[in-house]
Amino acid sequence: MLENAPYYHAVGKEIDVFNHAYKNKIPFLLKGPTGTGKSRFVEFMAHQLDKKLITISCHEETSSTDLIGRFIIKGAETVWLDGPLTTAVRDGAIIYLDEVAEARPDVIVAIHSLTDHRRELFIDKLGETVKAHDDFMLVASFNPGYQRGFKELKPSTRQRFIAVSFEYPESQIEIEILVKETKIDHDTAKKLVAIGNKIRNLTELGLTETVSTRLLVNAAKIIHSGHPKRASVHVAVVEPLTDDLQTLVALKDLCDLMI
Ligand code: ADP
Repeated sequence: MLENAPYYHAVGKEIDVFNHAYKNKIPFLLKGPTGTGKSRFVEFMAHQLDKKLITISCHEETSSTDLIGRFIIKGAETVWLDGPLTTAVRDGAIIYLDEVAEARPDVIVAIHSLTDHRRELFIDKLGETVKAHDDFMLVASFNPGYQRGFKELKPSTRQRFIAVSFEYPESQIEIEILVKETKIDHDTAKKLVAIGNKIRNLTELGLTETVSTRLLVNAAKIIHSGHPKRASVHVAVVEPLTDDLQTLVALKDLCDLMI
Protein backbone atom coordinates (compact mmCIF):
# COMPACT_ATOMS: atom_id res chain seq x y z
CA MET A 1 0.00 0.00 0.00
CA LEU A 2 1.31 3.41 -0.93
CA GLU A 3 1.78 5.92 1.85
CA ASN A 4 -0.14 9.16 2.37
CA ALA A 5 -3.06 8.12 0.23
CA PRO A 6 -5.64 10.89 -0.10
CA TYR A 7 -8.76 9.93 1.83
CA TYR A 8 -11.55 8.96 -0.51
CA HIS A 9 -14.71 7.05 0.38
CA ALA A 10 -16.14 5.23 -2.61
CA VAL A 11 -19.81 5.91 -3.27
CA GLY A 12 -20.37 3.31 -5.97
CA LYS A 13 -18.31 1.36 -8.46
CA GLU A 14 -16.27 4.37 -9.58
CA ILE A 15 -12.90 2.92 -8.48
CA ASP A 16 -13.39 -0.26 -10.54
CA VAL A 17 -14.66 1.69 -13.51
CA PHE A 18 -11.70 4.05 -13.41
CA ASN A 19 -9.26 1.14 -13.23
CA HIS A 20 -10.85 -0.47 -16.27
CA ALA A 21 -10.83 2.82 -18.16
CA TYR A 22 -7.15 3.25 -17.34
CA LYS A 23 -6.28 -0.31 -18.40
CA ASN A 24 -8.12 0.14 -21.68
CA LYS A 25 -6.79 3.65 -22.34
CA ILE A 26 -10.23 5.22 -22.42
CA PRO A 27 -10.63 8.81 -21.19
CA PHE A 28 -12.75 9.31 -18.09
CA LEU A 29 -15.43 11.96 -17.54
CA LEU A 30 -16.75 12.89 -14.10
CA LYS A 31 -20.13 14.57 -14.19
CA GLY A 32 -21.77 16.27 -11.26
CA PRO A 33 -22.21 19.36 -9.12
CA THR A 34 -19.39 21.08 -7.32
CA GLY A 35 -18.11 19.67 -4.04
CA THR A 36 -19.13 16.06 -4.60
CA GLY A 37 -15.65 14.58 -4.36
CA LYS A 38 -14.65 14.56 -8.04
CA SER A 39 -11.22 16.10 -7.56
CA ARG A 40 -10.57 14.04 -4.46
CA PHE A 41 -11.44 10.90 -6.39
CA VAL A 42 -9.00 11.73 -9.19
CA GLU A 43 -6.24 12.46 -6.65
CA PHE A 44 -6.99 9.15 -4.98
CA MET A 45 -6.89 7.19 -8.26
CA ALA A 46 -3.64 8.83 -9.40
CA HIS A 47 -2.13 7.88 -6.07
CA GLN A 48 -3.40 4.30 -6.30
CA LEU A 49 -2.02 3.92 -9.80
CA ASP A 50 1.19 5.63 -8.71
CA LYS A 51 0.95 8.18 -11.51
CA LYS A 52 1.74 11.84 -11.55
CA LEU A 53 -1.40 13.98 -11.64
CA ILE A 54 -1.56 17.32 -13.43
CA THR A 55 -4.73 19.29 -12.70
CA ILE A 56 -5.94 22.21 -14.77
CA SER A 57 -8.92 24.24 -13.56
CA CYS A 58 -10.50 25.35 -16.81
CA HIS A 59 -12.23 28.72 -17.17
CA GLU A 60 -13.51 30.75 -20.08
CA GLU A 61 -10.02 32.04 -20.90
CA THR A 62 -8.33 28.62 -20.93
CA SER A 63 -7.01 28.09 -24.46
CA SER A 64 -5.25 25.27 -26.24
CA THR A 65 -2.04 27.33 -26.04
CA ASP A 66 -2.25 27.25 -22.24
CA LEU A 67 -2.46 23.48 -22.36
CA ILE A 68 -0.17 22.63 -25.28
CA GLY A 69 2.60 25.17 -24.89
CA ARG A 70 4.06 28.34 -26.30
CA PHE A 71 7.23 29.99 -27.53
CA ILE A 72 8.82 32.27 -25.00
CA ILE A 73 11.64 34.76 -25.34
CA LYS A 74 14.67 33.79 -23.31
CA GLY A 75 17.54 36.23 -23.69
CA ALA A 76 18.21 36.49 -27.40
CA GLU A 77 16.46 33.24 -28.14
CA THR A 78 12.94 32.05 -28.66
CA VAL A 79 12.43 28.72 -26.94
CA TRP A 80 9.50 26.35 -26.86
CA LEU A 81 7.90 25.59 -23.53
CA ASP A 82 5.66 22.53 -23.24
CA GLY A 83 2.30 23.20 -21.62
CA PRO A 84 0.85 20.87 -18.98
CA LEU A 85 -1.05 18.72 -21.48
CA THR A 86 2.03 18.15 -23.63
CA THR A 87 4.05 17.31 -20.53
CA ALA A 88 1.44 14.77 -19.45
CA VAL A 89 1.30 13.25 -22.94
CA ARG A 90 5.07 12.90 -23.15
CA ASP A 91 5.69 11.73 -19.58
CA GLY A 92 2.71 9.45 -19.12
CA ALA A 93 0.91 11.42 -16.42
CA ILE A 94 -2.78 11.68 -15.70
CA ILE A 95 -4.15 15.06 -16.76
CA TYR A 96 -7.33 16.27 -15.08
CA LEU A 97 -9.20 19.01 -16.92
CA ASP A 98 -11.54 20.24 -14.23
CA GLU A 99 -14.68 21.94 -15.66
CA VAL A 100 -13.57 21.25 -19.21
CA ALA A 101 -16.78 22.66 -20.74
CA GLU A 102 -15.76 26.10 -19.47
CA ALA A 103 -12.62 26.19 -21.61
CA ARG A 104 -12.43 27.76 -25.05
CA PRO A 105 -13.59 25.59 -27.94
CA ASP A 106 -10.01 25.16 -29.23
CA VAL A 107 -9.24 23.11 -26.11
CA ILE A 108 -11.90 20.61 -27.09
CA VAL A 109 -10.50 20.46 -30.62
CA ALA A 110 -6.99 19.90 -29.24
CA ILE A 111 -7.98 16.94 -27.10
CA HIS A 112 -9.99 15.12 -29.75
CA SER A 113 -7.08 13.24 -31.27
CA LEU A 114 -5.98 12.26 -27.76
CA THR A 115 -9.35 10.82 -26.87
CA ASP A 116 -9.70 8.31 -29.69
CA HIS A 117 -7.62 5.41 -31.01
CA ARG A 118 -4.92 7.81 -32.25
CA ARG A 119 -3.88 8.94 -28.76
CA GLU A 120 -1.77 11.68 -30.21
CA LEU A 121 -1.41 15.41 -29.76
CA PHE A 122 -0.83 17.72 -32.67
CA ILE A 123 1.30 20.73 -31.77
CA ASP A 124 0.56 23.08 -34.64
CA LYS A 125 3.14 25.67 -33.61
CA LEU A 126 5.88 23.04 -33.90
CA GLY A 127 4.29 21.10 -36.74
CA GLU A 128 4.82 18.07 -34.55
CA THR A 129 2.62 15.17 -33.60
CA VAL A 130 3.35 13.60 -30.22
CA LYS A 131 2.24 10.03 -29.57
CA ALA A 132 0.92 9.67 -26.05
CA HIS A 133 3.05 7.74 -23.57
CA ASP A 134 1.52 4.36 -22.73
CA ASP A 135 0.61 5.52 -19.21
CA PHE A 136 -1.03 8.79 -20.27
CA MET A 137 -4.66 9.24 -19.30
CA LEU A 138 -7.05 12.11 -19.87
CA VAL A 139 -9.64 12.81 -17.20
CA ALA A 140 -12.17 15.63 -17.34
CA SER A 141 -15.05 16.88 -15.24
CA PHE A 142 -18.05 18.94 -16.00
CA ASN A 143 -21.05 20.20 -14.14
CA PRO A 144 -24.25 19.66 -16.12
CA GLY A 145 -26.12 21.80 -13.56
CA TYR A 146 -24.91 25.30 -14.19
CA GLN A 147 -24.47 24.87 -17.90
CA ARG A 148 -27.94 26.31 -18.40
CA GLY A 149 -27.58 28.63 -21.35
CA PHE A 150 -23.84 28.30 -21.07
CA LYS A 151 -21.45 25.87 -22.59
CA GLU A 152 -22.46 22.27 -23.08
CA LEU A 153 -20.24 19.38 -24.02
CA LYS A 154 -21.04 18.22 -27.53
CA PRO A 155 -22.07 14.60 -28.03
CA SER A 156 -19.06 14.15 -30.32
CA THR A 157 -16.85 15.03 -27.35
CA ARG A 158 -18.75 13.33 -24.55
CA GLN A 159 -19.01 10.07 -26.43
CA ARG A 160 -15.26 9.64 -26.36
CA PHE A 161 -15.31 9.17 -22.59
CA ILE A 162 -16.38 6.64 -20.04
CA ALA A 163 -18.61 8.78 -17.84
CA VAL A 164 -19.62 8.50 -14.21
CA SER A 165 -22.09 10.71 -12.35
CA PHE A 166 -21.12 12.07 -8.96
CA GLU A 167 -23.98 12.96 -6.65
CA TYR A 168 -24.24 13.65 -2.93
CA PRO A 169 -23.37 10.45 -1.08
CA GLU A 170 -26.05 8.60 0.86
CA SER A 171 -26.31 9.68 4.51
CA GLN A 172 -24.26 6.94 6.15
CA ILE A 173 -21.36 7.51 3.78
CA GLU A 174 -21.54 11.29 4.08
CA ILE A 175 -21.52 11.06 7.88
CA GLU A 176 -18.44 8.86 7.67
CA ILE A 177 -16.74 11.34 5.33
CA LEU A 178 -17.38 14.21 7.76
CA VAL A 179 -16.04 12.22 10.70
CA LYS A 180 -12.93 11.02 8.81
CA GLU A 181 -12.19 14.39 7.21
CA THR A 182 -12.69 16.59 10.25
CA LYS A 183 -12.62 14.33 13.33
CA ILE A 184 -15.98 15.76 14.36
CA ASP A 185 -18.18 13.60 16.60
CA HIS A 186 -20.65 11.24 14.97
CA ASP A 187 -23.73 12.93 16.40
CA THR A 188 -22.86 16.38 15.03
CA ALA A 189 -21.89 14.85 11.68
CA LYS A 190 -25.29 13.19 11.55
CA LYS A 191 -27.05 16.50 12.22
CA LEU A 192 -25.03 18.29 9.55
CA VAL A 193 -25.88 15.62 6.99
CA ALA A 194 -29.55 15.90 7.96
CA ILE A 195 -29.34 19.65 7.34
CA GLY A 196 -27.69 18.99 3.98
CA ASN A 197 -30.40 16.58 2.92
CA LYS A 198 -33.17 18.85 4.11
CA ILE A 199 -31.92 21.80 2.05
CA ARG A 200 -31.22 19.55 -0.95
CA ASN A 201 -34.89 18.59 -0.94
CA LEU A 202 -36.08 22.20 -0.89
CA THR A 203 -36.09 22.40 -4.66
CA GLU A 204 -38.63 25.26 -4.54
CA LEU A 205 -35.83 27.59 -3.37
CA GLY A 206 -34.41 27.46 -6.87
CA LEU A 207 -30.81 27.55 -5.70
CA THR A 208 -28.29 27.34 -8.54
CA GLU A 209 -26.30 24.80 -6.55
CA THR A 210 -27.40 23.19 -3.36
CA VAL A 211 -25.50 21.98 -0.26
CA SER A 212 -22.41 20.04 -1.29
CA THR A 213 -20.37 17.68 0.82
CA ARG A 214 -17.67 20.37 0.73
CA LEU A 215 -19.94 22.83 2.57
CA LEU A 216 -20.73 20.26 5.24
CA VAL A 217 -17.03 19.44 5.60
CA ASN A 218 -16.28 23.14 6.07
CA ALA A 219 -18.97 23.48 8.74
CA ALA A 220 -17.67 20.38 10.51
CA LYS A 221 -14.11 21.73 10.40
CA ILE A 222 -14.91 25.03 12.07
CA ILE A 223 -17.19 23.38 14.62
CA HIS A 224 -14.37 20.98 15.43
CA SER A 225 -11.98 23.89 15.87
CA GLY A 226 -14.35 25.47 18.39
CA HIS A 227 -16.73 27.80 16.53
CA PRO A 228 -20.35 27.63 17.83
CA LYS A 229 -22.46 25.13 15.92
CA ARG A 230 -25.30 27.34 14.74
CA ALA A 231 -23.00 30.14 13.69
CA SER A 232 -20.84 27.62 11.85
CA VAL A 233 -23.77 26.33 9.85
CA HIS A 234 -24.78 29.89 9.00
CA VAL A 235 -21.41 30.87 7.59
CA ALA A 236 -20.25 27.55 6.14
CA VAL A 237 -23.50 26.21 4.72
CA VAL A 238 -26.18 28.89 4.35
CA GLU A 239 -24.25 32.03 3.37
CA PRO A 240 -22.32 30.41 0.51
CA LEU A 241 -25.58 29.16 -0.99
CA THR A 242 -27.51 32.35 -1.63
CA ASP A 243 -27.59 36.14 -1.35
CA ASP A 244 -31.35 36.39 -1.24
CA LEU A 245 -32.24 37.89 2.13
CA GLN A 246 -35.50 36.07 2.65
CA THR A 247 -34.00 32.75 1.73
CA LEU A 248 -31.05 33.38 4.04
CA VAL A 249 -33.33 34.06 7.00
CA ALA A 250 -35.54 31.07 6.26
CA LEU A 251 -32.60 28.71 5.88
CA LYS A 252 -30.87 29.94 9.02
CA ASP A 253 -34.07 29.45 11.04
CA LEU A 254 -34.48 25.99 9.64
CA CYS A 255 -30.88 25.01 10.42
CA ASP A 256 -31.05 26.41 13.96
CA LEU A 257 -33.75 23.89 14.73
CA MET A 258 -31.66 21.02 13.44
CA ILE A 259 -28.26 21.50 15.09
P1 ADP B 1 -15.39 18.54 -6.58
O1 ADP B 1 -14.08 18.27 -7.28
O2 ADP B 1 -16.49 17.61 -6.97
O3 ADP B 1 -15.82 19.98 -6.63
P2 ADP B 1 -13.89 17.88 -4.17
O4 ADP B 1 -13.27 16.61 -4.61
O5 ADP B 1 -13.01 19.08 -4.09
O6 ADP B 1 -15.19 18.23 -5.04
O7 ADP B 1 -14.60 17.59 -2.77
C1 ADP B 1 -14.85 18.60 -1.84
C2 ADP B 1 -14.56 18.09 -0.45
O8 ADP B 1 -15.60 17.18 -0.07
C3 ADP B 1 -13.26 17.31 -0.34
O9 ADP B 1 -12.21 18.16 0.00
C4 ADP B 1 -13.56 16.31 0.74
O10 ADP B 1 -13.35 16.91 2.01
C5 ADP B 1 -15.04 16.07 0.64
N1 ADP B 1 -15.49 14.86 -0.07
C6 ADP B 1 -16.53 14.81 -0.94
N2 ADP B 1 -16.74 13.56 -1.34
C7 ADP B 1 -15.82 12.77 -0.73
C8 ADP B 1 -15.55 11.37 -0.73
N3 ADP B 1 -16.30 10.52 -1.46
N4 ADP B 1 -14.54 10.91 0.04
C9 ADP B 1 -13.80 11.78 0.78
N5 ADP B 1 -14.02 13.11 0.82
C10 ADP B 1 -15.02 13.61 0.09
